[in-house]
Amino acid sequence: MTVNAEIFPSPVHDHDDCVRAALDAAEAQCDRHGARLTALRRRVLELVWTSHEPVGAYALLDILKAEGQAAAPPTVYRALDFLLVQGLIHRLERRNAFVGCRRPTTPHSAEFLICTDCGRVAELDDPSIGAAVRLGAEAQGFTVTRQTIEVEGLCPDCRKQGH
Ligand SMILES: [Zn+2]
Ligand SMILES: [Zn+2]
Ligand SMILES: [Zn+2]
Repeated sequence: MTVNAEIFPSPVHDHDDCVRAALDAAEAQCDRHGARLTALRRRVLELVWTSHEPVGAYALLDILKAEGQAAAPPTVYRALDFLLVQGLIHRLERRNAFVGCRRPTTPHSAEFLICTDCGRVAELDDPSIGAAVRLGAEAQGFTVTRQTIEVEGLCPDCRKQGH
């Protein structure tokens, strides 16, 4: 079995590149949709991209407060909603937290691999999974409107360390 190292980046990768790519993609996406990536929305997106681990809304609030931004919870929730609607971030129900999306321009159902050891999250890019769920649901007369699949386990790096 070949391990696709792409989705779990190396622990020593240049994360600034990830953040830059995410912010560039966000600007492009918002331009296309005629949506406004305000300074706060951009900063919230940047904070979600602090690492490849999911971030909760309250952690974001704390950071914004520490930066001297008078960000009330509703403001931050609205910014997160905006980013969700634009497809720039995903919400992990299991963690009640948010992760940045690496391919916001392509509509996709979200399947997540969550490492229970280091906490990193990667998005599986496998349309056959969503298709299989839709087919199975359809066979039961059920129409899928939204699906998020969250799978817990060990990432390649934690597995290598023998955890
Ligand atoms: Zn990165
Ligand atoms: Zn995504
Ligand atoms: Zn891990």
